[in-house]
Amino acid sequence: MKIFYYPIEWNDSCKSLIYENKRIGFVPTMGAIHEGHLSLIKKSNIENDITVVSIFVNKFQFNDPKDYENYPIEIESDITILEKNNVDYLFLPSTQTMYPKDFSYKIVENNLSNILCGKSRPGHFEGVLTIVAKLLNIIKPHSAYFGEKDYQQYLLIDNMVKSLLMNVRIVSCQTVRESDGLALSSINLLLSQNERELAANFPRILSSNISIEEKTKKLSSLGFDVDYVEEQFDRIFGAVKIGNVRLIDNVKK
Ligand code: AMP
Repeated sequence: MKIFYYPIEWNDSCKSLIYENKRIGFVPTMGAIHEGHLSLIKKSNIENDITVVSIFVNKFQFNDPKDYENYPIEIESDITILEKNNVDYLFLPSTQTMYPKDFSYKIVENNLSNILCGKSRPGHFEGVLTIVAKLLNIIKPHSAYFGEKDYQQYLLIDNMVKSLLMNVRIVSCQTVRESDGLALSSINLLLSQNERELAANFPRILSSNISIEEKTKKLSSLGFDVDYVEEQFDRIFGAVKIGNVRLIDNVKK
């Protein structure tokens, strides 16, 4: 696996890969790699000749600076896992590389980004769309892979690519879950053992056959701080907090 830190390092490799007619798949992540990420990588490996992964913890999508500071970083073990999973290139840019001092643009969406997570996390999706647009423009993949765990994010990225005529195919991948149903997520690492046990109730209640109101009540009564439980796009979406950790999930209706 080749590791690169600057867009310019990728330019030459990218040119020769395209010259050789290689298909390039791209999996953007914020690291602390888990089986959810690996399912995207596996799909990319199946559908492409080359898989590029990026790890970049994007400061500008955290509306609470504490969440950014506490985000788990595990670069050394990530590199080992990615190598074992046949990733060809790893892009590891710094914040300075992605946001030079004079960087003054952002991508704003005015509809879908105002509901669900967008409502309670102002600026979050602007941060996500801006970094994903930059990463896609750097890597120039044929296909890019996103998880349904962040379904609103996937929809916004898919719409952005279509609206801005960006030449990339956006592929969605099913949510990977622990055996007790909890969706894998890097921030699960921040849960204590008790919190982790409680967390398993979140997907269970979200997918249970009761009304939205009852789901909300049940979650609150168990000790979750419920941000929202809502039906959209034939799915039930939920966001809850356990202590300082915010979990999101969605299930098909
Ligand atoms: P993150 O590192 O959390 O920003 O996630 C990087 C990519 O992996 C995003 O497209 C996520 O939707 C996806 N992802 C994260 N967790 C899961 C999961 N449990 N199942 C499937 N995809 C996931």
